[in-house]
Amino acid sequence: MAVDADRFRDAVARFASGVAVVTTRGAEGLHGLTVSSFCALSLQPPLVLVCIDRLAQSADLIAASGGFGVSVLGGRQQLLADRFAGRGPLVNRRFDGVPYFVARSGAPLLRDSLAWLDCTLVGEHPGGDHVIFVGQVEAAGTGAASTALVYWNRAFYRLPVET
Ligand SMILES: Cc1cc2nc3c(=O)[nH]c(=O)nc-3n(C[C@H](O)[C@H](O)[C@H](O)COP(=O)(O)OP(=O)(O)OC[C@H]3O[C@@H](n4cnc5c(N)ncnc54)[C@H](O)[C@@H]3O)c2cc1C
Repeated sequence: MAVDADRFRDAVARFASGVAVVTTRGAEGLHGLTVSSFCALSLQPPLVLVCIDRLAQSADLIAASGGFGVSVLGGRQQLLADRFAGRGPLVNRRFDGVPYFVARSGAPLLRDSLAWLDCTLVGEHPGGDHVIFVGQVEAAGTGAASTALVYWNRAFYRLPVET
């Protein structure tokens, strides 16, 4: 018997995570979404994974483009986290006014983020109502941000805490 859906959500909400924007360049332009499911998978070879709702347009766009970018958000980028999650104004013009540079894969990477990774798609696995995308990291770097954006119990926080 599967756990009650609300209990499951309440339990996993207590797992603190970083926040990233996963981006692609498709035939219709740039796209990106906010994720907390990003994680490092392997050191040798360097692999990462992200889990994307299979109904989200990002799932099709990542599969079609064959690669994706990951921008790890800094503590002052909460507005971008909301925008790329489809909340608030400019949800349909997510890149408006956002400085970015284009990685070798063609994916846009957000400037002023904490770190970035450019990935070739090397695996795609079903995971319930999500798809697990595995990326081989072709290039990575760190950015100008000095604090991390953290998502915990359905709210954003900044680390380290400024006292
Ligand atoms: C802190 C944080 C972490 C997040 N982490 C993740 C994550 O790890 N993985 C993830 O997938 N999302 C995550 N999200 C949610 C994600 O950022 C948003 O859902 C975002 O709007 C997806 O953008 P999109 O353009 O790809 O999807 P959109 O196409 O805008 O779809 C948004 C949502 O609408 C629903 N939807 C779309 N089309 C249909 C349809 N035809 N029928 C029924 N439902 C539909 C889907 O549930 C989909 O996820 C997170 C959000 C936040 C705030």
